[in-house]
Amino acid sequence: MNKNIYESYTQEKLKKAYDFCEGYKQYISNAKTERESIAETVKIAESNGFKNLKEILKSGKKLKKGDKVYAINMDKALIMAVIGEQDLENGLNIVGSHIDSPRLDLKATPLYEDGEICLLDTHYYGGIKKYQWTATPLALHGIVCKKDGSKIRITYGENEDEAVLGISDLLPHLDRESRKDVVTGEELNLIAGIMPDKTAKKDKVKANILNLLKQKGIEEDDLFSAEIEVVPAGKARDFGLDRSMIAGYGQDDKVCAYPSIMALLNLKKPSKTCVCLLVDKEEIGSVGATGMESMFFENTIADIISLTTNYSDLKLRHCLANSKMLSSDVTAAYDPNRPSPFNKNTDAFLAHGIAFCKYTGSRGKSGASDANPEYIARLRQILDDNKINYQATEMGKVEAGGGGTIAYIMAKYDMDVIDAGVPVLSMHAPWEITAKVDIYETYLCYDAFYRFI
Ligand code: MN
Ligand code: MN
Repeated sequence: MNKNIYESYTQEKLKKAYDFCEGYKQYISNAKTERESIAETVKIAESNGFKNLKEILKSGKKLKKGDKVYAINMDKALIMAVIGEQDLENGLNIVGSHIDSPRLDLKATPLYEDGEICLLDTHYYGGIKKYQWTATPLALHGIVCKKDGSKIRITYGENEDEAVLGISDLLPHLDRESRKDVVTGEELNLIAGIMPDKTAKKDKVKANILNLLKQKGIEEDDLFSAEIEVVPAGKARDFGLDRSMIAGYGQDDKVCAYPSIMALLNLKKPSKTCVCLLVDKEEIGSVGATGMESMFFENTIADIISLTTNYSDLKLRHCLANSKMLSSDVTAAYDPNRPSPFNKNTDAFLAHGIAFCKYTGSRGKSGASDANPEYIARLRQILDDNKINYQATEMGKVEAGGGGTIAYIMAKYDMDVIDAGVPVLSMHAPWEITAKVDIYETYLCYDAFYRFI
């Protein structure tokens, strides 16, 4: 526990770890939004024999041991399951992470013109340090829903032959006195263009941008029924002279989601039914139809029970209460550039493996789902048996802050839950940093958890 992974890794294992991370880099480069994550994951699931639960329900067939299924919620949340040998009433082995990440969302009526510049008004999503989003290349990802029911998918700013967008910042010469580098949320307006449509009567630059949108089939009012996210432009890539780390957008929490998906694919006929859960809206409190608070999880498990046995509400309750879960979410890694909120004795380090956070609350453990020591002891046995590199973490000094995850929501079912995930530097920044060996150890941990808990 809590050792530098490189001390024990052979060249062979290091190669396996780094190879695993090539797949991960590709995944996060293609999956910058919730919808893209779910679409990418469904692609992976289907090519590995997973079947859509909706179609199984329609067909009237039953599920048998070893069957692999998935259920999608509004294109923004997903449950994948491999049916185990034991009755579902004995509980599930669940690894759950979130696939939403901090970003800027276009407002419902975003377009306006000021100073002969056309801008797109945004409302930020999740906890961001606003100054980090100015003066950096940004891309648009999302969908526009038309009144006729059709959808137009948008990705703009990722390819070499496309332009990028961005938010301007004041030059230091004019920003000396009052505000230094402070930016407000209302000032995060994306610059869309400066070319006028000379035939327009007013707002000529905005009119020209509207003409461009029209060529794509998009009217100004269509942006009211759109979901367009502003994210950093560009692919994830290696970080550091020794290429030991990854810089990428949205690693909170796809750096845990990806290993949990990959670990589930390994299972043939597990003892307990194993579930990989990917949810939306964690960054804004897990609310809404696609967040962890939604009934989607419970409804889907009810469906799965009904397809394996005679359904009863009691069976569902037993199944949930007997389940074991890893709430797979990232934690803060010790930052030598900004050490003040960390306690080096109790916080996580890069390259020390998957970090277990017994409780995520702060200032008197407020709001924490505090994991039971009996459960942690069982996990330690599995981790040590399978030679997994792991560490315990607090996520900062007692009074420093802390953060929420989905653990407390699942704990309401009376199941054992603990937070366990990859340590991250610059969390919630446009480019977050992780260590490749930690990602691989997290994958090995989820694999062992599915098999042995
Ligand atoms: Mn997270
Ligand atoms: Mn987060």
